[in-house]
Amino acid sequence: MNTVFQQILDGKIPCDRVYEDDHCLAFRDINPVAPCHILVIPKVAIDRLSSAKENQADILGHLMLVASRVAKLDGYDDFRVITNNGAGAGQTVFHLHLHVIAGRTFGWPSP
Ligand code: AMP
Repeated sequence: MNTVFQQILDGKIPCDRVYEDDHCLAFRDINPVAPCHILVIPKVAIDRLSSAKENQADILGHLMLVASRVAKLDGYDDFRVITNNGAGAGQTVFHLHLHVIAGRTFGWPSP
């Protein structure tokens, strides 16, 4: 599917890139909900977490490690990582992404 994140990966629309390697791209959310709000996406097209296959465990683990790395790059040791899986959970872009948010106080459960 030609999602906005696929268009970013293809270089068709710009992003505020924070980190990139062979397997993933991290960039700032266009509508941040916290002082730090970074999205980490795989370069391979996975539409959401529940679509990931057993043989994609390495990339899923990598995304988590990169989430931690980009938070640290922004100067945060304390941060939250979220993925919305499906429209009912708030997913609007159907290319798997981790939200890395930090820099303010968070409640739990999150509203
Ligand atoms: P979700 O609702 O979990 O699917 O999250 C999608 C996120 O993508 C939202 O937080 C949007 O603000 C963000 N977003 C949408 N388009 C762009 C874009 N072009 N660049 C950066 N972030 C975007």
